[in-house]
Amino acid sequence: MIQSDTINFDKKAMVSKVLTFSCVDGPGNRLVIFLQGCNFDCISCHNPQTINHCNDCGDCVSSCPTGALTLEKGKVKWHKSLCSECDKCIEVCPNHSTPKITTTSVRQMIELVDKHHAFLSGITLSGGEATLQLGFIIEFFKAVKASAKLSHLSCFVDSNGSLSEQGWDKLLPYLDGTMIDLKAWLDTTHLWLVGRGNQRVIESINKLASLDKLYEVRLLYIPNKTDLLTEIDALATYLNQLPAQVNIRINAFQHHGVIGEGLTWDKCTKEQMRQFSEKLVARLGRNVLLPSVYL
Ligand code: SF4
Ligand code: SF4
Repeated sequence: MIQSDTINFDKKAMVSKVLTFSCVDGPGNRLVIFLQGCNFDCISCHNPQTINHCNDCGDCVSSCPTGALTLEKGKVKWHKSLCSECDKCIEVCPNHSTPKITTTSVRQMIELVDKHHAFLSGITLSGGEATLQLGFIIEFFKAVKASAKLSHLSCFVDSNGSLSEQGWDKLLPYLDGTMIDLKAWLDTTHLWLVGRGNQRVIESINKLASLDKLYEVRLLYIPNKTDLLTEIDALATYLNQLPAQVNIRINAFQHHGVIGEGLTWDKCTKEQMRQFSEKLVARLGRNVLLPSVYL
């Protein structure tokens, strides 16, 4: 049992959103915390405003129709109770960021989980890239594990897989599972799509699988743009050596939230997904999880 006096309840995180109920972010009913900031810059990103941190330029303040944004001592403040969630501030931000961020401590987050715990089977830290705020995740998961009321909740991270081996080692004692994105097979394709190669991603998947901490690998299918189809044999050979209990999920590229070049790409249709998934399933010899909604 973790001693609560070893936990830093004042550790804070930059939080972009909290969902108090989700059934698509890991097993069961989960409270999902989205942390701001990402070290990938995916052309296909559905939440590009979660990549950069706000630099307090103040450009968005006058765009807010409800007075929910103010500039105080050079810092932009978001007044949640006044916000109508129109997202005009995100549209005008020259930094592709958002002012709608809260700074939340481990103590405050535990209080929130406490209110909802009766309906939950677990908690997922997502992003952006959640592991960029590793210190917060460790203290928060420690606090969950140390609480008699909350310790039954499983603690998961949804990650782009960029965390170092040493980083995973720090988190592992408090971690029950992970969902890791594998957005392209070839290093060069991954570099083009997200701005970094995928060697670290593969290392993370291998490490987490070997320790039984890998719940799901998430592939992103972007027809005619990335290499999951052209490299399907190598991809399937790799996925086949993962433990059988690891879910393989395929996400279909859609336009929702995407900005810039990605909007000029075709969306993945249901038929394209069917064709790709059937080829992958034939090579894997087991089922994969598919999207249910095409926007
Ligand atoms: S989403 Fe942004 S612009 Fe719209 S009301 Fe909220 S703070 Fe203001
Ligand atoms: S959200 Fe964007 S526009 Fe608003 S202050 Fe921050 S960087 Fe400037």
